[in-house]
Amino acid sequence: MSGPPDVPPSDWPGLETGDVVRLTDDVYYGWLEHEVTPVFWHRCAALADVPAEHTVHGRWVAAGTSGHTLVAREPLHLEPSLLWKCCGLHGWVRDGQWTSA
Ligand SMILES: [Zn+2]
Repeated sequence: MSGPPDVPPSDWPGLETGDVVRLTDDVYYGWLEHEVTPVFWHRCAALADVPAEHTVHGRWVAAGTSGHTLVAREPLHLEPSLLWKCCGLHGWVRDGQWTSA
C-alpha cells in the first residue's frame, strides 16, 4: 500500500448525500441524475501500480451500465453480467448482491 487510502465513492465530496451503495469493498454503485441505469465504481487492479497522485480518485474507476438491462432497481438486479476489461473484474449483480463470475 502506498499513497493516501482509497476513499470509497460513498465518501466523496458531492456524492456523500447520494444513493451510493457498497456491494463489496471494491465495487460500489450509485444513481446519477437522468440515468436509468446505475453508474459503477470499481477499485481497479490495473491501477495498483499507478501512484495515487497520478490518478483522479485513487484506484476507483467509474463505468456506466447503459448497455445493461435494469431488471430491478431495489434490490438491484442487472443483466447480463458486468465485465470491466481494464482489469478483468467480472460478476453479476442480482438481489442487490455482487457475485463474482
Ligand atoms: Zn478495472
